Amino acid sequence: MKLIFLGPPASGKGTYAQRVGPKIGVPQISTGELIREEIKKETEHGKEAKPYVEAGQLIPDNIVIELLQDRIAQPDAEKGFILDGYPRNIVQADALEGMASIDKIINLVVPDEVVIYRLSGRRSCKKCGKIYNVNTLPPKQEGVCDDCGGELYHRADDTIEVLKDRLKVYREKTEPLIDYYKKKGIVADIECNQADIPPEIVVEKIMNALE
Ligand SMILES: [Zn+2]
Repeated sequence: MKLIFLGPPASGKGTYAQRVGPKIGVPQISTGELIREEIKKETEHGKEAKPYVEAGQLIPDNIVIELLQDRIAQPDAEKGFILDGYPRNIVQADALEGMASIDKIINLVVPDEVVIYRLSGRRSCKKCGKIYNVNTLPPKQEGVCDDCGGELYHRADDTIEVLKDRLKVYREKTEPLIDYYKKKGIVADIECNQADIPPEIVVEKIMNALE
């Protein structure tokens, strides 16, 4: 199954993708994580992308498209994948058309005030990238990843100012994508309008939408 999770930044789509992936036997592919990997490894793409990440801006389409193309060609993505953070605009969606046939769009419908509340509690693992939330999804031990023991941190692009810019960009550029996919009849809207909605509940809604 080839899925796309759409939703505003800090809407929890990474968390839901991490949980739904194993249930349906496909990897979660986060373009944000792919880009952070490239920056860490100081590759050409990483060096090009770094200033955009630091300013909280979108990475140029050509870089993201190339990274994604390489990633979905890996053997573990043969049966399918969940894309998290891609596509972000119509150009990226058109490029994806040429690479894969998408079965369903999971559209997380989340109001801005809920996004801002969630963001204030978000923590990521330095080692494996797993996402936690001190409000809704705390680790067993404060500041430590349950899975790998890595240190949890508040990402530099997780500040309220940066988020407000990213929300604006999302509403302008990504929302037209929802119409683009609605015309194809493959969008499932998942309402997430409570701030403290437990991840299991949202995952259940998503699994129901996939049946
Ligand atoms: Zn970890």
